[in-house]
Amino acid sequence: MKRPTILVLGAGYGGLTTTVNLQKMLSGEQAEIILVNKNDYHYETTWLHEVGAGTIAPDAARYPIAKVINNNVRFVQASVEGIDVNERKVQTTAGEMTYDYLVLGLGFEGETFGIPGLDKYALSLANLNAARQIREHIEYQFASWSLDEVKDDSKLTIVVGGAGFTGIELLGELGNRVPELCKEFDIPQEKVRILCVEAAPMVLPGFDPELVEYAKTQLAKKGVEFSIGTPVVEATEEGVKIKKGEDEFEFVKAGTVIWAAGVRGNKLVETSGIESNRARIAVRKDMRAPGFDDVFVVGDCAFLLNEEAGRPYPPTAQIAMQQAVTIAKNIKHLMADEDTEEFVYDDKGAVCSLGHDDAIADAIGRKMAGKKASALKKIVDNRALYLVGGVGLTVKKGKFKFI
Ligand code: FAD
Ligand code: NAD
Repeated sequence: MKRPTILVLGAGYGGLTTTVNLQKMLSGEQAEIILVNKNDYHYETTWLHEVGAGTIAPDAARYPIAKVINNNVRFVQASVEGIDVNERKVQTTAGEMTYDYLVLGLGFEGETFGIPGLDKYALSLANLNAARQIREHIEYQFASWSLDEVKDDSKLTIVVGGAGFTGIELLGELGNRVPELCKEFDIPQEKVRILCVEAAPMVLPGFDPELVEYAKTQLAKKGVEFSIGTPVVEATEEGVKIKKGEDEFEFVKAGTVIWAAGVRGNKLVETSGIESNRARIAVRKDMRAPGFDDVFVVGDCAFLLNEEAGRPYPPTAQIAMQQAVTIAKNIKHLMADEDTEEFVYDDKGAVCSLGHDDAIADAIGRKMAGKKASALKKIVDNRALYLVGGVGLTVKKGKFKFI
């Protein structure tokens, strides 16, 4: 009998964790495992705020996929261009592929809610090269301000749209990086403005209020200003328009606008033949797509309701990696004609960094702020490396400077 083909799309937290679990469970004779990813490396999406601010190098946040897969897996470096689950076909830049089991793990895209100008004028932390672009854009703005005879100080204004986890973590890194940049480019620091614009009436909506207060105070010490309860309504080449009241708007001129105000699934989901909302598929309890018994969805392309809380689980790396383990097991169950398992989320809480030296955490049953929380954040980052690549990868790429 022909061995089944398992096609995994995307080598992010979800896709790569599925693959390394499958390669442990199945031999080459039992299944053909194919992993397709745009790049020949995996990047740590959860470190992109550091790459964007320039506090770590882009290379620090990536490693070759070849380092973590074995001979049971065929890796294909290609971009997925189309998915047709009715025909069981996937179009890629390396040609058409078919499958017996599909794992769709193509990650997220920034959600702009149709706000005019954002697609064109705002930068985002959508992937490693997008983060690299933010770093280089800010450096370019600072360098050109230094060289300009007539100085336009707005070149030194950085607007971050959104004070969710991504926005706050980015602001923490920017707070550390800006003094270094000012030194490098001979810029008086008081000329630089870092402004965070948040639509909701609070920063980090839903997080512990005391920890949020701590985060705001610490970020303010690093020079971050907040405009809360004031949505961005437009972006232009010059900056952003902010809604301040019923009929009140303010335009902030800015050399850099970074959009960190939410995510949706990969747009390829929308043309795959599976029903989706904001490119996220409401999966069944065993992580399969509704109506398609051979298609699993992992990570930010999957939508799963937390029935107890009556709201969806947030799209996080933590949940993507846990889903991946269930998916690998369920593929093995299906191959053996067994019942599939339900995905059960083990929520370990959340840690939000405020730069490399500070953080807030509501995790492992404790609330923490400062150096302890920051050390926990590094342990969490190292754990993700360990789960995919074991001790070797953790030692090579991990974060071991705890203070
Ligand atoms: P991703 O990790 O985004 O991976 C998708 C993969 O698909 C990538 O390798 C990409 O190159 C590939 N791909 C995309 N399109 C194509 C294509 N057309 N063809 C081929 N390959 C393609 N979550 C946490 O739990 N903890 C954190 O601390 C945390 N910090 C974060 C910090 C930042 C700055 C950001 C932006 C997010 C953070 N998150 C965090 C959320 C977390 O990163 C995502 O939920 C997680 O990355 C989702 O995993 P995924 O596998 O679905 O997608
Ligand atoms: P988010 O949806 O969590 O937060 C986006 C923020 O942008 C919200 O506060 C929202 O009110 C605001 N916003 C929306 N429209 C706006 C507008 N027009 N103007 C100004 N503000 C606007 O998105 P995120 O922060 O990118 O996080 C995405 C996912 O990744 C979440 O699930 C998050 O938990 C996860 N994440 C986790 C960590 C961590 O655990 N340390 C870090 C980053 C991201």
